[in-house]
Amino acid sequence: MSVYEWRSAPRADFAVLGDPIAHSLSPKMHQAAYKALGIAKTYLAIRVPQSELSEALEHLSFLGYRGVNLTVPLKGAGAAWAVTPDEFVRRCGSANTLSLDTGNAINTDALGFLDTLRPLGVKPPSTVLLLGAGGSARALALALDDVGYRVRVFNRTRERAEALVSSLGIEAEIASEPDPTGAALIVNATSASLHGEAPAVIWQRAEKRALAYDLAYGPELSPFLLQAALAGMKVVNGLELLVMQGARSISWWLDCQAPIEAMREAVR
Ligand code: NDP
Repeated sequence: MSVYEWRSAPRADFAVLGDPIAHSLSPKMHQAAYKALGIAKTYLAIRVPQSELSEALEHLSFLGYRGVNLTVPLKGAGAAWAVTPDEFVRRCGSANTLSLDTGNAINTDALGFLDTLRPLGVKPPSTVLLLGAGGSARALALALDDVGYRVRVFNRTRERAEALVSSLGIEAEIASEPDPTGAALIVNATSASLHGEAPAVIWQRAEKRALAYDLAYGPELSPFLLQAALAGMKVVNGLELLVMQGARSISWWLDCQAPIEAMREAVR
């Protein structure tokens, strides 16, 4: 799948923006959805550095783009760009789905993530160790707290974890080390996997029945999931999250039921 620089991107209807972006399966998945829906839309992957997001959005809107998904590291900047963010985006300061027609913004990672948890059987009020304090971690922390999970946040830059908890106004514990003691779910919401790295979880303290969940996806186990598997844990990558958050974006933009099976098939 081609990756474009925003200044030289061709006309299209939708896109995923990020930096890095070459790993994204979103174009493949969204194109499969349009085919299943029988509609002629196009969806591209476009590299946009964080400092250029506003300029890039203006340019893409001028070219006729109707909406964009945002990934690493643009979700905070996307929430700040929105003219009319929905209530959840206002509360968490993170948006992954923008309408360039209206200036509206939503966050489909949060509910998409909860969609994926239901079949995994990890129910509130279980404890979740959430690793990271970027755009996705902010959305997940708020969504998990809203539905009654106990959240423990660890980030390598502690001040960002503190800022996350205080600005969201949630009850979460701020951990001084990535300690999974008592957690039923350990979520890697850092971007470490994209660089072949992993947060240094103290796996020997993990519950044997706990689940390790990496938001990142790829053909192989990420270093985080590999370490978890070696520690005897069940592991899940972010592929189903990709599908569920993408489905919610499609429904919002196109006011239709997203063809989830076709989307799953495209990225399997
Ligand atoms: P951000 O850039 O907003 O945040 C990155 C976070 O990762 C920060 O907390 C940063 O810590 C931390 N981090 C980066 N590198 C390392 C490292 N080597 N070791 C430990 N921590 C590190 O990213 P997003 O929140 O947008 O995305 C996070 C991840 O989630 C990405 O891999 C993304 O692809 C994935 N994702 C996947 C989705 C899917 O559909 N499957 C949906 C949403 C996200 P610090 O503050 O110290 O810099």
